[in-house]
Amino acid sequence: MLLGCVADDSTGATDLANTLVGQGMRTIQLIGVPAAGRSPPDADAVVVALKSRTAPVDQAVGDSLAAMKWLREGGAEQIFFKYCSTFDSTPAGNIGPVADALLAELGADFSIACPAFPTNKRTIYKGYLYAGEVLLNESGMQDHPLTPMTDANLVRVLGQQTDGEVGLVEYHEVAEGPAAIRAAYDRLRDAGNRYAIVDALSDRHLLDIGTASADLALVTGGSGVAMGLPQNFRSKGGMPAGNAAALPAAGGHAAVISGSCSLATLAQVAHFRDQGGPVFVVDPLSIAVGEDVAAAALGWAKGRLAGGPVLVAASAPAEAVTRVQAELGRVRAGELVEGVLAAVARGLVEQGVRRLVVAGGETSGAALAALGVTGLHIGGEIDPGVPWTRSLDHDDLYLALKSGNFGAPDFFLKAFDLLT
Ligand code: ADP
Repeated sequence: MLLGCVADDSTGATDLANTLVGQGMRTIQLIGVPAAGRSPPDADAVVVALKSRTAPVDQAVGDSLAAMKWLREGGAEQIFFKYCSTFDSTPAGNIGPVADALLAELGADFSIACPAFPTNKRTIYKGYLYAGEVLLNESGMQDHPLTPMTDANLVRVLGQQTDGEVGLVEYHEVAEGPAAIRAAYDRLRDAGNRYAIVDALSDRHLLDIGTASADLALVTGGSGVAMGLPQNFRSKGGMPAGNAAALPAAGGHAAVISGSCSLATLAQVAHFRDQGGPVFVVDPLSIAVGEDVAAAALGWAKGRLAGGPVLVAASAPAEAVTRVQAELGRVRAGELVEGVLAAVARGLVEQGVRRLVVAGGETSGAALAALGVTGLHIGGEIDPGVPWTRSLDHDDLYLALKSGNFGAPDFFLKAFDLLT
């Protein structure tokens, strides 16, 4: 293992893993802190997916430290702490406290913080984070229910989360290339800064920041800045050549499970139906009155799987979800649907499904738990941010886990076309 990564949520972990594979690193994603005795997988990079973004600070720090300890024992030469490209956090944390703890444990005194992701229109100029055309605090993120971002100045925002000093590597230094960026790191470190926010407007900048960061024990940022790290290992000769995204050929039946009600998913469900794909609709109210909806879905699927992909979906437009939530409560409705879809995932695999697309972040988490999947080999990208993966715990089970708003309308069928 060359690069060890700690990610503060699971879809962010997949996004990072997908970036690393795109840059030629054979990458594995593990779900949760690995058990102490678990041996490190054969990979260039390992991403440990935590649920630490909005966890209590102590828990976020503890889980992150435990994950890093395991990664270092597995041989990781450099640690990457991944958070959201919108720097999702509160004055209490968790980005600052986790980075402080990781640095202290590494015995290091300096790191960078760079959430920039120009492909997704997250850019940093003069230390201010932009989301699209506007400052972060005008982008809607100021109203986020858990991590409202009311200040776009990352020097100030990170400064509130750490007792260390925070400086800035400015755009003109970044534009000059890796040597100037490295000189800026040295200047800031010598002036007593623990962190540098680094301006970045383009992938060129991210690649140069990556080159300049080769000797940092810890790098922190979004998945964008990780783009520049694989080349350091490649130029040191540490990375074998070959197609990092290659997975063995897949077989078995194909199915989609959807618990996402995001607009992109609703379009994907409609497209699948329009193409003549068979759809079983999961009704939350039927679950609530005690019907065995999972058994009904599995019975429905049984005769159809041989004919091509089937879709089992609870996905519904906002008005329908609001009606269901008014009757059952938001949390209960979510739990009931996730429970049924997870049982359907397990049942479908028992019926021979080996290629499974799951739509929805929470739904994916529930399906992985039901299937007993603790890790994923990351394969090729289907649509930006969503790769095919292969379960580490089953030889032949392929999973594509799609968070709500990702993917083009033809995502479901395209995914199976790509997996040959
Ligand atoms: P996304 O990635 O789009 O946010 P998630 O799976 O994370 O999707 O979240 C969707 C939530 O909505 C899940 O808890 C799911 O169980 C719930 N849900 C799905 N369908 C319905 C429905 N028809 N009515 C109410 N809740 C639903």
